[in-house]
Amino acid sequence: MASLQSDKINLLDFDRQGLRDYFRSLDEKPFRADQIIKWLYQHGVADFDEMTNIAVKLREKLKQTCEIYLPEVEHGNLSADGTSKWIFRLRGANSIETVFIPEKNRGTLCVSSQVGCALDCSFCSTARQGFNRNLSAGEIIGQVWLASHLLKQNPATAHHRITNVVMMGMGEPLLNFNNLVKALNLMLDDMAYGLSKRRVTVSTSGVLPAMDKLKETVDVSLAVSLHAPNDALRSELVPLNEKYPISELMDACWRWVGAGDRKRHIMFEYVMLDGVNDKPEHARQMVDLLKDLPCKVNLIPFNPFPKAGYLRSSDESIERFWRILTKNRILATRRQTRGDDIDAACGQLAGQVNDRSKRVLKFMKPRFGETL
Ligand code: SAH
Repeated sequence: MASLQSDKINLLDFDRQGLRDYFRSLDEKPFRADQIIKWLYQHGVADFDEMTNIAVKLREKLKQTCEIYLPEVEHGNLSADGTSKWIFRLRGANSIETVFIPEKNRGTLCVSSQVGCALDCSFCSTARQGFNRNLSAGEIIGQVWLASHLLKQNPATAHHRITNVVMMGMGEPLLNFNNLVKALNLMLDDMAYGLSKRRVTVSTSGVLPAMDKLKETVDVSLAVSLHAPNDALRSELVPLNEKYPISELMDACWRWVGAGDRKRHIMFEYVMLDGVNDKPEHARQMVDLLKDLPCKVNLIPFNPFPKAGYLRSSDESIERFWRILTKNRILATRRQTRGDDIDAACGQLAGQVNDRSKRVLKFMKPRFGETL
């Protein structure tokens, strides 16, 4: 449980149940754990000495063996459209990216689950850096902690609130299952962030056994990165398809939406690549595939990055694709591209800070006349 390069236990690595168990093992009352969870997440306090309803003796005892470790802010940037992007430096010289997207009635935080990614999707810039390591639970929830803290600190963003979390940053969340679940528990916990289950979304390329396990473990929303309606094309774009082909993926999707105490649906992500997966025949195959499944398709205009090898579909192709789905009663939306002036758009999270000096300004340095 100790954080990398630290002998101390990071309190952010526990969900509430885990912290209660830990306190029991220290012969402390479990409700003390609840109080600490509230300090950490409701009050945004990361210093034992500010936890005034915790006895000084207990605070001193905790300081001996525990720490409250958060990643460091390496860069921050604010887009003209209000999107914020941060690069957080982790122990072990790794960095990750986290993006906040304000919309009219909500604010969505896009959170990373791994440093890099092993899945090698051909259109995703994170794939180009390969896989480095899983994030700890504390490093996942720490992104929510830091983002809400940093938004509040900056007068230009102080009115922004995180109402939604999407696990759509760097990495495949379902390949970091246990740490993901602890962080999700904290997002949902009324004593921590208290987000509704409809507002916390795990996005997966389709790690099927983990999809089933997630359903049994924690009640959140699911997005599936589909990107192609047939195996030949999907295997090209999402190599994981060779292990878990579309028919098995669809079975798992039906299991996900199936019998439960609430009606679930799935959001399918579909990145629109010019001339690759955006033809009418692909739209028609999508209709066959998704027929009757409670779902929504999110058409995502491809966001380019250096040497990507793909182009964004034209507005006309996206419109045509959307029309075929809609006519056939498949709910579909086109995702607005946000934050692309600061490389904060979907699929542009690269995690490297070298060579970024031109594109990402130093934290605190204003762009577009705004302070961050
Ligand atoms: N591994 C998980 C979580 C990462 S989020 C998953 O695959 O779902 C990945 C999402 O980012 C993909 O669904 C895709 O919608 C989006 N994405 C990746 N690269 C992109 C790019 N270059 N342009 C637009 N969207 C991209």
